[in-house]
Parts: sequence; C-alpha cells; structure tokens
Amino acid sequence: MNIHEYQAKELMRSYGIPVPKGGLATTPSEARQVAQSLGGERFVVKAQVHAGGRGKAGGVKVVSGVDGVAQAAEQIIGMTLVTHQTGPEGKLVRKVWVEQATDIDRELYLAVTLDRSRERLAVMASPDGGMDIEEVAAKTPERIFTTHLDPGQPLWGFQARKLLFGCGVQGPALRQGSALMEALVRLAWEKEASLVEINPLVLTGEGKLIALDAKINFDDSALFRHPEIAELKDPDEADPLERKAHAYGLNYVRLNGNVGTMVNGAGLAMATMDVIKMAGAEPANFLDAGGGANEEMITKGFEIILGDPNVKAILINIFGGILRCDVLASGVVAAAKNLDVKVPLVVRLEGTNHEEGSRILAQSGLDFTVAQSMADAAQKIAAVVGAA
Ligand code: GDP
Ligand code: MN
Repeated sequence: MNIHEYQAKELMRSYGIPVPKGGLATTPSEARQVAQSLGGERFVVKAQVHAGGRGKAGGVKVVSGVDGVAQAAEQIIGMTLVTHQTGPEGKLVRKVWVEQATDIDRELYLAVTLDRSRERLAVMASPDGGMDIEEVAAKTPERIFTTHLDPGQPLWGFQARKLLFGCGVQGPALRQGSALMEALVRLAWEKEASLVEINPLVLTGEGKLIALDAKINFDDSALFRHPEIAELKDPDEADPLERKAHAYGLNYVRLNGNVGTMVNGAGLAMATMDVIKMAGAEPANFLDAGGGANEEMITKGFEIILGDPNVKAILINIFGGILRCDVLASGVVAAAKNLDVKVPLVVRLEGTNHEEGSRILAQSGLDFTVAQSMADAAQKIAAVVGAA
C-alpha cells in the first residue's frame, strides 16, 4: 500500500526525522490560510497524488507570499497530473500540501528498501538526489552507495557514516545524518515498509539535513498488524478496475502490458505471466479466477480484463480440477457472447473434462485459438500482439 507524501512526512516527523512545516489544503483559500498560519515569505505547493515525478510535470511549485500560494493551488488542484509513474491517463489532483520553502544547498538521495535476493533491508544513499534515481542507477551506478542490515540488528554508526561519506556529507551534519538514517531504518522495520524513500534529502545552507520529499510503500500482507497505517489508505488513489475486481471477489492486479490473462490459481497465474514475458510479450494483469470459479466469475473476470483499454488479446490458461474445463468453456463462451468480446482469445485447457471443454469452444462459433501447452499458448499470444 502507498500513502501520500504528507502522510509519509507526518510519520517521519514522529520518528524524529526533520521535515518542513506544512499543512494540507483542498481549495486555494485553504492553501492561503495554511500559508498564513505557517508564516514566512517563500512556500512550496505540492500536488498530493500517489506518483513521483510531480516536479517535472508541474505539480510542485516554489512561490512567494500567500497570494503566490493561492495562485499555485488554483493551478494544481483539479489538474490531471501526468508523470512517468502515472501512465498516460494521469492522476486527478484533489489536494495540495503547502509548506515553508527550504533553502537548498545540495540534494541527496536516501532510501531503505527490502532486498528480496539478499533477504534483508538495504539502505541506499547517493549524492545525486532530486533527479530520477533510476537514471543514476543506469548511468553512474558507482554513485549509489548501499549497505545491508543484518537480521534483527539496527543500522550501525559505521554503516551510516560510510553512506554519508559517499554523499560528501561532512561536519555536524554527519552526526545528524547518522541519527536520521537510524530512525528511517527503525520506521521501515517497525511499520513493515517495503520502501521508505527520501528524494531529495537536502542539505540546507545552514548545514542541516531535511526530508523534502517522502515516499513509503507498505507490505499489504502485514497491514493487519498496523491498523494505524491501514487507516491512511486513500480510496481515491486505488485503481478503479482493481477496486471493482475486489468487490467481485476476484484476485486481480493491473499491470502495464497488453496481454490480458485469466487463470485459475495464483501459482499458475504467476507462471503464466512468466511464460508471456519469456515469449517477448507483456502481461496486462494478474487474475486468479479462483479454484471454484463459475460462469458468473468468468464473466466478471472478462469484464474487468476488458475494462483495461490496453488489452489487445487474452490468454486463458486453466488447469481443470475443482473448476472443470467444460464449466470454464461454457463460461468463456457465454461471457464472450454477452460482452461482445472483440479481442483475440488464446485458450489452453488441461485437466478434468478438457476434451469436453475443447469441444464446447470449437462448436461455439467464436474465434478461439486453442493451444496445446503453456509454452505454445505463450508463443501464440505473443504472435497475436506482434511481440514474438
Ligand atoms: P517529485 O518530483 O514528485 O519527486 O517531487 P519533490 O518533492 O521531490 O519535488 C521536486 C523538486 O522540487 C525537488 O527536487 C526540489 O528541487 C524542488 N523543491 C521541492 N521543495 C523545495 C523547497 O522547499 N525549496 C526549493 N528551492 N525547491 C524545492
Ligand atoms: Mn522527489
């Protein structure tokens, strides 16, 4: 689960990490009031959406005076922000965070993330904060410094200093930086975050470190242990298709590709996404129709998959066990007719009653491509979308 920058900053503040003073606003006049109560001359007005890259897209404005704040809020609230993380449809901005502007000397990068291959938390820092860290990682990876935590251990001072030296931090900021990193690690550990990122972490003209941006991802599976975090969920930010699928009781995750997938069983669904990628194509979703899915669930699954305009073809991969292949085939035929499915369908059926299932598909009069194996299905779907 993602939270907004203002929520992440509040959480960081509660761990003693310095963040600028600010307040939330949903209208320009509220933004003006926030600025008035904060005091000062220069302010930053920041769109609150679950996406990075807001600065380049016009969602972050540094302004002077309370009039400047009201003007910037007028521009930003209600805009559809399109950044490299929102997809082409963008995100509607409903609220802004107004804070006192910070005098920036240098912009650093700092993050705590779960390194799944090493099975431990990693702390990463770079002197090249503020811009796309992905670009730094691709072009000058030697400018990102990483250290791993031993299980159950805190971040030790020598580890923090190694990272800070790498970022060129000196003097009193070293001690402050060590404490800040230690607090960030504690936050990630205690709240079971998969990513805690500060980009930029700035060094001010006075030599102080402040978190100017804040991003936190939480492990959904651990949220039941953290009701105070689960409460921070913003329903406006959920993908509409994921929300609908959830209401239908379908296990669906939207992805960026163009091959829709309908599969029974989470493991088979994961394997299906793998073979699609290995064939050179990109899955548009994960969808586990469930072991006991019936015709109704299949219809709902189609409705969700087809709700994504990127979907150019659908791969149906079913291993008939509890969900028999003939039931699935009838469901597919009925749903395809009901919903007037226009995209090509590739079907792979195996297991209980698969002969009967294949016969139902063949006699339906609809245009199915029947695959003989998973690899065959992946090749055929990749050919259909022109990725083979
Ligand atoms: P992002 O683009 O979504 O990552 O949004 P950020 O919160 O990182 O802001 C983008 C950029 O705006 C930062 O890298 C800074 O260069 C600039 N910025 C943000 N806050 C301030 C501020 O208080 N003072 C100044 N001078 N620049 C700021
Ligand atoms: Mn940022």
